[in-house]
Order: sequence, then C-alpha cells, then structure tokens
Amino acid sequence: MSPALRIGIIGSGFGALATAIELTTHGHDDVRLWERADQLGGVWRDNTYPGAGCDVPSPLYSFSFAVNRSWSRRYAKQPEIHDYLRRVADEYDITRRIRFGAEVVSAQWSETTSTWDLGFGDGTTETVDVLVSAVGQLSRPRRPAIEGIDDFAGTSFHSAEWDHGVPLAGRRVAAIGIGASAIQYVPHLAAEAGELTLFQRSANYILPKPDGPLPRWYQRGIEGERAFWWMFGEQFSRGLEDDSVVGRINAAVARWHLRRQVPEPDLREQLTPDYPVGCKRILFANDFYPAVRQDHVDLVTDPVRRIVGRGVETADGTLHEADVIVYGTGFDSQDFLSSIDVRGLDGERLADRWADGAHAHLGMYVPGFPNLFVSYGPNTNLGGGSIIYMLEAQARHMRQVLDRMRAGRWERVDVRAEVEARYDGQVQQRLERSVWGHCESWYRHPSGRITSNWPGSTGPFARRVRTLDPEDFAWT
Ligand code: NAP
Repeated sequence: MSPALRIGIIGSGFGALATAIELTTHGHDDVRLWERADQLGGVWRDNTYPGAGCDVPSPLYSFSFAVNRSWSRRYAKQPEIHDYLRRVADEYDITRRIRFGAEVVSAQWSETTSTWDLGFGDGTTETVDVLVSAVGQLSRPRRPAIEGIDDFAGTSFHSAEWDHGVPLAGRRVAAIGIGASAIQYVPHLAAEAGELTLFQRSANYILPKPDGPLPRWYQRGIEGERAFWWMFGEQFSRGLEDDSVVGRINAAVARWHLRRQVPEPDLREQLTPDYPVGCKRILFANDFYPAVRQDHVDLVTDPVRRIVGRGVETADGTLHEADVIVYGTGFDSQDFLSSIDVRGLDGERLADRWADGAHAHLGMYVPGFPNLFVSYGPNTNLGGGSIIYMLEAQARHMRQVLDRMRAGRWERVDVRAEVEARYDGQVQQRLERSVWGHCESWYRHPSGRITSNWPGSTGPFARRVRTLDPEDFAWT
C-alpha cells in the first residue's frame, strides 16, 4: 500500500469543494482545507449585498454529483447558494477537514523533502506533499485608486464587504462602479435611499433575465432544464468571438431591452455601451433600468475626480453630496495567488514568474512549481456558462495526476516548461479571435494579456483536460 499523499487545499469555495470531493471520493484520504474566514463558501459567503445572487441559471449552477433540485427560483440568491455549499460539504464529509481562521501567507517548496511548507497568518506552519490553490479569481475586493478616498466623512464600504449595520433609509447614497454586483443591489438601494447617485464609468450590455419561482412540483424538471442551460451556455459563448452572429443577436436583444425599459432618449444614451458586446461581462437584469429611471435616482457619467469629506466630486467640478458611498468596483482579479508568498524551485517567487500576467498549463500547472495545482487558475474563467463545470473538469484532471503519483510512488510532478509554453501560446492565439481585446476589463492584465478567460465554451475545455498525458510532466 502506497503511503497517502498529504494534500492541502487553500480555500473552501466551489473550487476547493469540487477538488476535495473528487479526491476524497477516489481514495485520497489525507486531504485538508484551509479557510481564512470562520465559515466555508468563498465568494458565496462573502458577497451578502442586497439582491446578491447568481446570474447563471440555478438548474445549471450546482455540482454534477449533487444536482440541487430544490432551488426556490431560477436565479437563486446568495443565502440559498451558500446553504447548498454547506450542505454538500457536510454530505461529503468535507467540513470537518477544514481549518477555519487559517490564512495562508506563504508557501515554500522544499527541495530536500519534496514538500510544501505553509506559513499562516497566526504564525503556525504545516507541511504537505501536494498544494492545491483554490483561492479563486475574485476573492480580493478592490477599492479604487481615487484621490481622497480616505477623506470621506461619511460611511463607505465595498460591495463584497457590505456593512449591513449602516442605515440607508432616507439617506443620500453614492454608488461608484456599475458592474455585475451593482446592477443587483442598485434596485435595493433605490428602494431604501432618500437620494441615490450612480457613478457609471462604462455602460453595460444588459439582457432580460428569465427569472421566476421554481415550484416544488417542478423539481423533476430541473435535470432537463440543466441540460438546456448547458447547451444554451455553449452557444452563448460563441457570442464572445469577434464579430459573431450570436454576438450581434446579444447586442440587438440588449438594445431592445434598453429601448423597452427606458423611454427617455438622454438616459438611454447614457446607458448605451460604447464597446463591442461581450468585451465586458454581459449582465442579466429586469429591475436595473426601472430603478435608474426613478426620480430620486441620478445617473452620473462624468468621471469621478476625487472624493472629499462631503461626497464625490466629478470632473465637471460638481460636488455630489453623500452620507454613504458604496464601492462596486470589482476585485483584484489579476493577482491570482499574489496575496500568498509562493516560492518554487530555487526559491523563485510565483509573483515574479507572473509579473506580466499569470499563465499555467491547462490553467492548473506551473513549471518550476512542483506539486502545485491551481483550481480556477489563469485562463479558466468564462464569459458564459457555469464555472462549476470547469472546476469539476479541473478537479478530475488533478485527481488523475495524484492517482498516478500514488500508484508510481512518485514524490514530485512538474509540468514541462515547453508544454506549458505551447499551451499558453495556443490559448493566447485563440484569444486573439475573442472580443476581450477590444476594451479594458478585469479579464486583462495591465500588460495587455488576457489572463482570466478561457477562449471558448466549457465543453472543449472539459474534453481538453479529460485524460492525463503523462508525457506532459516530469515525474521524479
Ligand atoms: P465589475 O463587474 O468588475 O465592475 C466594477 C465596476 O466598477 C465597473 O463598472 C467599473 O467600471 C467600475 N470601476 C472600477 N474602478 C473604478 C474607478 N476607479 N472609478 C469608477 N468606476 C470604477 O465588478 P463586480 O460587479 O463586483 O463583478 C465582478 C465579477 O464578479 C463579475 O464580472 C462576475 O464575474 C462576478 N459576479 C458574478 C455575479 C453572478 O451573478 N454570478 C454577481 C456579481 C459578480 P469599468 O467597466 O469602466 O471598468
């Protein structure tokens, strides 16, 4: 009997759970997870802003091995998704493997012992044979670099750190950043605030959302709908190629939705995007435009110049007074693992390797960083479809690598540099045909490389990673 590989997973969101369950259900028993917070769930624990929910239809948004038939609506809200994750973690006996309050701050490869030595924020250490990062792409909220941001005399918070203790009723609220999160909470802010000012830098393409309750009797229909939404996602992704028919349809539907919901020409003009459809994430909402039309809601498209004690000053010199500022300005998506000091062979820092943008073979393996696997790594994000499908496909590939390590008693596996370079070249070449090169978005590194997204739909990725090619790796 081969000795069990000690496997450590950083995180406890969808990626971490997909990996942990895949491994433990295939006989890898020494699996532990580290979670910096005191609860599991990743982004679905952190994002509790009013209206937080999924914009991927829920019938598709659950693990294939634990399809949730009891979603209460077609686009489930955050509490229900978080409950689902906790339930699955319990059912698969993962919860007890998680050490909570454990923030990994460093990970050092040891050449002599072929292990990863982990350092934690509280000064403790642990050693594992295999390290899986499942910290996600959107786990570090980004406050914008706006002048004077600390001078504001009122209360402010980021959408992913919503302060539910701050009263909003009747108050003057400023919302900076109108993206995927904001279009979900703006209708709620509008319902509560006395005055709401929205600072929009770029308009969004917004499609209607076929939301609604899913009654109990419908539960048996979920599987069928799951298949439908998967196929829909595969077709939708075609719209993310340059100048595609699907893209033109998406743009036409978004324009129709805007025309139908916003009769005022000036406001409509402000809400019309000036970049190709899909270049930033396409959004789904029925209640955003009606919220913006309300009398006490003001849409400001003049650039924000600075924050002052009393509010937000725009480039035209206007001071927009506010009691509360909400930052819906997104996440440090390009940092990948940079919040952790990861050092591989010869002490090389992963942050240095990725200084011009992250890249990894199949999004998972980095040469010179043996026994390090990355879930939801570079170029595995999607512009359409369910990320859970991608995460499961990655978990299955990692599990095959670990099966082989265990069977062959290999103590070290390292992807070959030329294999990684070839893969990255192919991905970047495919990305040249995508819409993402035509605007600034969180998909792009400042160097210009698109490091977040996979250039296609989920099926081709799953096929690409279905079987392990041992020749791609050096086994020691
Ligand atoms: P986001 O989509 O990146 O939106 C950030 C917004 O802030 C954008 O409107 C951006 O404008 C603006 N912004 C950033 N810096 C600014 C500055 N200095 N001044 C003014 N405006 C600024 O962030 P998010 O809404 O938090 O969503 C992030 C991602 O999380 C989404 O793309 C999606 O993948 C995921 N998400 C998913 C769901 C879901 O339903 N599944 C829900 C929420 C979020 P520009 O566009 O001009 O840069």
